[in-house]
Amino acid sequence: MGMQETEPTQELKTAAEAAGWEYIGERSWVLVHAGFTMNTGLIVGDERALVIDPGAGPREAAPTYAAVRAVTNLPLTLINTHAHGDHFFGNDYFRAKGIDGIWAHLRAAEEIALNGESQRALVVDTEPEMAAGRGDYTEIVLPDSLVRDHPVDIDLGNHVVTLFHLGRGHTDGDLLVSAGSVLFAGDLLEQGAPPSFEDSFPMEWQKVLGKLIAIDDLYTVIVPGHGDPVDLAFVRTEFHKLRQAILTCTGAIQEQADDFTKAIPVLPYGPIQSRHLLNRVNATRAQLR
Ligand SMILES: [Zn+2]
Repeated sequence: MGMQETEPTQELKTAAEAAGWEYIGERSWVLVHAGFTMNTGLIVGDERALVIDPGAGPREAAPTYAAVRAVTNLPLTLINTHAHGDHFFGNDYFRAKGIDGIWAHLRAAEEIALNGESQRALVVDTEPEMAAGRGDYTEIVLPDSLVRDHPVDIDLGNHVVTLFHLGRGHTDGDLLVSAGSVLFAGDLLEQGAPPSFEDSFPMEWQKVLGKLIAIDDLYTVIVPGHGDPVDLAFVRTEFHKLRQAILTCTGAIQEQADDFTKAIPVLPYGPIQSRHLLNRVNATRAQLR
């Protein structure tokens, strides 16, 4: 009931820190992985705990699971923020250890079912067994609990978290997870690296970031898919950067449809992601009219 009851004990915080977790408030922790600097989230209630993105394969998921168990022995529910292998390839390991479901957005689950296998090469350097599809815990495991248009509340026991989708952005099935003033944003935000535009919807992504800014003082800590936790000022900066970059892209495409790649050097995301952004703005802009 009171605040004291929901705040973890100092003993628990110390044990979690020793296992590699950073405490971010609201009974929530974040664990940064070496390979893709991907973030795993952990939210602990009185009766169950939620794990957000188990990692890029069994090599990453095994120590992640051990780190989870250093904090809590409660039943676990898993979340996949979106359909990129560095976030969901760890599903099989967690399923083998016992979880009571994997939540994702409907579109993400469809994408994993359709193209999950073809993403294996992504982890060839850090998860060779997963890349080869050979060995223990290397199956592509599909989410079985789906979020559609409406937010879903999950009661972890005296601590309610909300799963929701704000529209297409980094992918067409990005799921956000909020616990009070803490928000896990998946790859809608990346810290220390440019956003990944490969299968993104840039103009809609900008709207999603705009919505996050509009609900302003709701969130004080935002966990990006990769890198350090950020605040709303970071989201505001990313929103304006993307807005300006999209304007530059549409201008370049309108002026020089035959070679709009000339805009790459003036875009703020480095040559690879700037090229992806241009291509995605070009591919998706017709849908907006
Ligand atoms: Zn991603």
